[in-house]
Amino acid sequence: MLRKSSPVFNRLLDRIAQMPVVDCHEHLRGPDRDPEVAPTEPISALTVLYFISDLWAAGASNQEIMLLQSAEASTDEKWPVFSRLWARAEHTAYARVTKLVLKEVYGVDKLTREALDRIAEQLASRDRSYYMKAIQDAGIKAVIADIIFPPPWERHVRYFASPTLKELLEGQFPLPDIWHPVFNIPYYHEIRTREFIDFVGALADVDTTSLGGYEAAMFELIKRSKSQGVIALKDQSAYRRVIAFDLPPRSDAERMFNKLLIDPRNQLAWPEAKPLDDYLFHQFIRFARELSLPVQIHTGHLAVIRNRVSQANAAHLAPVLELHSEVQFDLFHGNWPYMGDFLFLGKNYPNVSLNLCWVNMIDPLYAQELLKRAVMTIPHTKIHGFGGDYWQSSEHAAAHLILAREVIASALTDLVESDWLEEEQANRIAADWLYNNPNRFYRLALPSYEV
Ligand SMILES: [Zn+2]
Repeated sequence: MLRKSSPVFNRLLDRIAQMPVVDCHEHLRGPDRDPEVAPTEPISALTVLYFISDLWAAGASNQEIMLLQSAEASTDEKWPVFSRLWARAEHTAYARVTKLVLKEVYGVDKLTREALDRIAEQLASRDRSYYMKAIQDAGIKAVIADIIFPPPWERHVRYFASPTLKELLEGQFPLPDIWHPVFNIPYYHEIRTREFIDFVGALADVDTTSLGGYEAAMFELIKRSKSQGVIALKDQSAYRRVIAFDLPPRSDAERMFNKLLIDPRNQLAWPEAKPLDDYLFHQFIRFARELSLPVQIHTGHLAVIRNRVSQANAAHLAPVLELHSEVQFDLFHGNWPYMGDFLFLGKNYPNVSLNLCWVNMIDPLYAQELLKRAVMTIPHTKIHGFGGDYWQSSEHAAAHLILAREVIASALTDLVESDWLEEEQANRIAADWLYNNPNRFYRLALPSYEV
């Protein structure tokens, strides 16, 4: 149970609701970019990002998903499909976040066709101040944002002209002061074409006619990104490959790289390209050490459907965590559903922190159990309690935080009621999980928060 009829729970939740938060992981691109592209049709607006996957898993056809996500289709066209699927999936935790948005943002208790018309009116009439208000009202003091890569609608330009990184490097990516971008590395170690090498060389203004040149260009790009506010590297290669990184000799990587250089028409493929990918991944981690940047790694559950989660188990990372012992790693998403492996890595490696971004809404009971066991197994200074992990909608991120605060309060209530913790200790742990730990880990230099 998340909500308990317990005075301890009520007192803890009251305190936790007042605590400042470092939002450890978002894809929110800020108030200058997101409201411009946010859906205005209410079903699209409500189902942004994750909940749509539960509808897919519930049996929606690909055509039905396209209809629900369409910017052109009307609410009347979508409603028969959506209401049928909503009835199947409305009790998941993803749906709970949608329900929290309905209640907190639109004052709607039950999703009906009429309610959607009222929401459409509100969507049409509001000004853009709603975006930052949702962040501020939630008590979020910093947003660590994974946004320096082309959004899906610009992916067709990814390999030759993505403007995103260029904009950041030239100071043309306006973000609020509390936003802190990370440098997303998979695109740069998953090289498949010469065109991409040329793109990196042009961006860095470095000659890339050798592997060494490419490495120098990448170091330059990461260094310049840091001077533009980047605070960490981020890797989510688990979406496309197993996160077991070998340590191949440089000559193996160079042989593949040269194949692209000698003839721009050549292409590399997975899994043949693994030595080059793995070599470059390790090289970027060395850059992180040199530039004193922590590294975020996606582990566990993967967005959308039909993924292979075993490829994403953090246990595969052990050789990386051991080799790069001077680099600080923040492992994401509770490694759902591999809790035991996750706890082991946090307990065993001094350079590993455990991050619960996204997992509070993937599986709240898992997150609650993970937090309880983490208190008993891992120094509590190594836990990062929240990351909304949303695109476009700051209101969904804020709703996710409501759920996360309940998860944290319920985990700590169990530990207080079983005499493992005193109530004041529980409050201090919550403040550290939500704010003090990520503030220190990411060197945000915010004032520390004393309970
Ligand atoms: Zn994410």
